[in-house]
Amino acid sequence: MTIKSFNPPIRTLMGPGPSDVHPRILGAMARPTIGHLDPLFVGMMDEMKTLLQYAFKTKNELTLSVSAPGSAGMETSFVNLVEPGDTVVVCQNGVFGGRMKENVERCGAKAVMVQDDWGMPVDPQKVEDALKANPEAKLVAFVHAETSTGAQSDAQTIARLAHEHDALVIADAVTSLGGSELDVDAWEIDAIYSGSQKCLSCTPGLSPVSFSARAVEVIKNRKTRVQSWFLDLNLVMSYWGGGTKRAYHHTAPINALYGLHEALVMLQEEGLENSWKRHYGLHLALRAGFEAMGLSLIVPEAARLPQLNTVAIPEGVDEAQVRAILLNRYNLEIGAGLGALAGKVWRFGLMGHSANAKNVIFCLAALEAVLTELNAGIQRGVAVQAAQKLIISQGY
Ligand SMILES: *Cc1c(COP(=O)(O)O)cnc(C)c1O
Repeated sequence: MTIKSFNPPIRTLMGPGPSDVHPRILGAMARPTIGHLDPLFVGMMDEMKTLLQYAFKTKNELTLSVSAPGSAGMETSFVNLVEPGDTVVVCQNGVFGGRMKENVERCGAKAVMVQDDWGMPVDPQKVEDALKANPEAKLVAFVHAETSTGAQSDAQTIARLAHEHDALVIADAVTSLGGSELDVDAWEIDAIYSGSQKCLSCTPGLSPVSFSARAVEVIKNRKTRVQSWFLDLNLVMSYWGGGTKRAYHHTAPINALYGLHEALVMLQEEGLENSWKRHYGLHLALRAGFEAMGLSLIVPEAARLPQLNTVAIPEGVDEAQVRAILLNRYNLEIGAGLGALAGKVWRFGLMGHSANAKNVIFCLAALEAVLTELNAGIQRGVAVQAAQKLIISQGY
């Protein structure tokens, strides 16, 4: 038996991530590999920090890309800020809040859970109640953009409440960075992590993170050692610390970082606010198409994430069959429901490079064709027009 090269098909990625990777980013990743302590590479890393500060809207010195996927950014935030015996308020309104709880408990700390229904944003009143009932709480952790449900929470209010009760805040911005409004400094977020493969449209495997001066103080004054050697920011800082002082910590994923650099250069060229606007505008078009077909989005309008649209499955439709046909016949990937929403919804991502007019029209046309084939009770022949009207009026 001879195993041949792996040649994946070209898919359109409109699930919960990864999103379509722009050819410019794939091209950047194919450039020559150089040493990770090569002065030219170090110069690129310095630029990366500046670009990440731009994307996060922060002046935080400790802003870097963790060499592993978004989950490692999550773990970096928890293992560095949480010590055994601490109390952490964890907001859960989907899958990822549950992972935060896991992280807190594995650090030997107590997680006080604030629960909201899947599809709803975090309720700030419940956060305040939890902080009042647990005055010793050191941190509040929440997911800004819950990719498992499509709900967006009010990061600014949650951070304000945490600070009023002398707690720091950890925000999961894996799906929000680059796709919807996020202002780390103005909102005073202490620790934030993201992922390369969602609204930045890079390949998966990197996790941009940023820590405020307040958070760095907490990390430097820990009583115990960080339980993870690889994710210990005290050690990582000496590598990403800047200038010529860089010491070997691990071999950076060099070509992957070329890709993230290119993705961030593209974000800068478009302009951060324009990128947010594009995600929102194309979300309006996609949603108009769904609604014209008679499908409904499950998240209340005020909390809807533009980059992740959660649609209720129409009566009598085999949701997995629809996804399989879209994938196999049309090379279109959409997401299934997770956890409490499994079997009840589809998740349509409009992230990064995937958020374009062509994808919106293609997705609506393919979905309508498949639902018609399966005799689902939808309105036919109206979705594409409804979306196109908004594409034209907004100039996309
Ligand atoms: C995708 C995602 C993660 C995990 O990122 P990975 O790169 O898959 O490890 C964490 N939080 C949220 C909200 C996500 O959408």
